[in-house]
Amino acid sequence: MKRYDAIKKIMESLTVEIIICNLGAPSRELYNIEDRDENFYMLGSMGLVSSLSFGLAISKPNKKIICIDGDGSILMNLGSLSTIANTNPQNLTLIVIDNSSYGSTGDQKTYTNYKTKLDVIAKGAGFESIVVIKEAEEIMPKLKNLGVGCHFVLIKVDPGNAQVENIPLKPEDIRIRFMKAISRA
Ligand SMILES: [Mg+2]
Repeated sequence: MKRYDAIKKIMESLTVEIIICNLGAPSRELYNIEDRDENFYMLGSMGLVSSLSFGLAISKPNKKIICIDGDGSILMNLGSLSTIANTNPQNLTLIVIDNSSYGSTGDQKTYTNYKTKLDVIAKGAGFESIVVIKEAEEIMPKLKNLGVGCHFVLIKVDPGNAQVENIPLKPEDIRIRFMKAISRA
């Protein structure tokens, strides 16, 4: 399974959730799989989707927030794991799609290719709900089964980006559209 397949399965599992997606290839793949007003495509700020999702989760406690992060990005911002786990917002699922590479910059290997285990780091940070997925067929049943809570979901995939078009939306249009969508009742 590659990241594209994982995102496709994630989208098949969701209904009304707000999605904050990591920059670069993951956002382009998400846009091409299923663009929706409730998708926020990060631009320019590598490592910060977990923090942005956390802020949104505590400011919108009645909405379910899904963060689609990557191994390279979360490794840049490990402190957010402790913040999220200790605050424990019950409406946040942090999904890390781990392809053991910096996919958007040429597939240089990250440390998850060697000794680093992100699920173990999440446990140490204090997450109480940790799910590790290695097969595409597991994604839908496991995501649907999560329920209320603060979840860390690690999806192990192979490196490689899908050949998809760039997102045609301007950054400000992404922001304006997303702000409108999340302010709806
Ligand atoms: Mg990666």
